[in-house]
Amino acid sequence: MVKQVIPKTFQEALNYLYDGSYRVVAGGTDLMVQKRSTANLPPKFNTNILYAFNLDELKYVIKEEHQIRIGSMTSLETLLHHQDVPQILKDVIFEMASPGIRNMATLAGNIGNASPAGDSLVVLYLLDAIIVLSSIYQNRYLPIEKVITGPRKTVIQPNEMIKEIIIPLHEMTKTQWVKVGGRQADAISKVSFAGSATIENGMIMDLRIALGAVYMTVIRERSIEKLFKEISVESLKADVQPLLAHYESLIKPIDDQRSNKAYRHKVSLNLIEDFILNL
Ligand SMILES: Cc1cc2nc3c(=O)[nH]c(=O)nc-3n(C[C@H](O)[C@H](O)[C@H](O)COP(=O)(O)OP(=O)(O)OC[C@H]3O[C@@H](n4cnc5c(N)ncnc54)[C@H](O)[C@@H]3O)c2cc1C
Repeated sequence: MVKQVIPKTFQEALNYLYDGSYRVVAGGTDLMVQKRSTANLPPKFNTNILYAFNLDELKYVIKEEHQIRIGSMTSLETLLHHQDVPQILKDVIFEMASPGIRNMATLAGNIGNASPAGDSLVVLYLLDAIIVLSSIYQNRYLPIEKVITGPRKTVIQPNEMIKEIIIPLHEMTKTQWVKVGGRQADAISKVSFAGSATIENGMIMDLRIALGAVYMTVIRERSIEKLFKEISVESLKADVQPLLAHYESLIKPIDDQRSNKAYRHKVSLNLIEDFILNL
């Protein structure tokens, strides 16, 4: 029979996770939908369940000199209103779900779910987020792209849970988030885009581009970004076609009920071009 536990402390949670037989539930806004049963029946879980949302120890936003640390059970709605959360992360959260869902949902759940269309992931890739995975043995600090390995696939071990998300603070002159969905609220992205540029004296010092829902994981390709750094904004604008050509081969969307490959491909390139031409 499936066991359900509500640990009172983080250490107690890690002790339960020790033998790998428990599944972590944070806000449950993905899991309860995935495991839903017919009306009036409880969700169908086939593993033991550890409800972590009560762990106040994991509800925090701490700003340090070079980074902010977000506890994994902090709700999206709390992040939306917190003064230390980077604006571009607030921009994405504002367009995720609706206030009721955001009061339960967490960044950790968006990461654990590892959907190619997970909105916060696009901005977490852009911001070079580090994910802290804890077990009773150790804390592992991994860049987000090393945590998510494919659609619904992560390297999070059954005896681990996400403790916190670390976001390095970085000066950005311009940031942009665009979600293309069927409607404004409660929509799953057809395509999503996040971009940032750091500009000094008309020169691009740092350029970042991330795309969601057009590949098996978020696309963020540092080797391309590097090619377009330390050049003037004007040359970058003039050079936008070669930049687009680099991304053209990386974007490999699928057809599904929300959109089709051709649309997603075209819109992704348009979003990159629009961002660059408006720097
Ligand atoms: C109506 C509705 C609208 C939505 N709109 C959006 C949207 O606009 N954009 C979007 O991206 N998503 C959306 N979602 C999906 C969902 O709300 C998000 O993915 C949310 O971030 C999930 O967080 P959660 O805390 O509820 O995760 P849960 O459902 O609790 O967990 C999701 C997964 O993560 C794992 N997990 C959770 N916490 C941890 C942890 N600390 N350590 C290890 N594993 C963990 C769980 O085991 C599970 O596999 C929507 C969902 C609903 C129901």
